Amino acid sequence: MGSAMVETAGIQRRGTIRAATTKAEAAAKKPRKPSSLTEQVYARLRAEILRCSLKPGQEISEAELAERFEVSKTPVREALATLRQEGLVHTFPRRGYQVTPITFGDMNELFDLRTVLEAGAVEFACEQITAQEIERLRELAEVVYRQGESPSIDNFIAANRQFHLAIAAASRNKRLYDVLARQISELERFFYLGAQLRDVSSETNAEHVEIVEALAARDRTRARGLMIRHNDVTRQGLFQALATSKGFVSITI
Ligand SMILES: [Zn+2]
Repeated sequence: MGSAMVETAGIQRRGTIRAATTKAEAAAKKPRKPSSLTEQVYARLRAEILRCSLKPGQEISEAELAERFEVSKTPVREALATLRQEGLVHTFPRRGYQVTPITFGDMNELFDLRTVLEAGAVEFACEQITAQEIERLRELAEVVYRQGESPSIDNFIAANRQFHLAIAAASRNKRLYDVLARQISELERFFYLGAQLRDVSSETNAEHVEIVEALAARDRTRARGLMIRHNDVTRQGLFQALATSKGFVSITI
């Protein structure tokens, strides 16, 4: 691991402090004091919401979560307050909580912003990326999953996130990285839905490989064009999958 990889890992630690949802990310973090009950409940709830095991629009209660996690209501209430600030849950007076429904409007805004940011990031990365970082991208581009298998989908989503974040890190612009990391985190629920509803392995891998080759050739124009197309293809695939899905009735247009 050269200095560039260390730098990448450093940026990832700073950028995703609250988003240690994968074993790889958790392992990459430095040892630290054991997390509080609130932090544990927060991390579990957030992961369930992002993975859609708690479905968009689903109602949840403090009592039910406290029982399921075998804790008192206080850490649950505190965790829910943080998730509410992040926009992942809504509250209703006297009725409790609801996992924030997802909307096509949100999805379009997130994808538009992500496209603008990533098109720029991949151009900067063409100038700055190292041979080691390119090798790492090649490995990440190979990860596939089997539809319906949860650990396999988790790995695939994590590899996709790492692929895009590694390009953002190679832009060597920390602010750009931070904003992109947040967009990708907010889009994670959509990625899970998309990967569950249809098999996106082959199209994702083929496009990721093309992007890596454009980066290796330091071809800014091509890399930019490919990244924009990749985002468009992902968005269109998700739209189609969601529009024809009967399983997620809370999605509103
Ligand atoms: Zn991708």
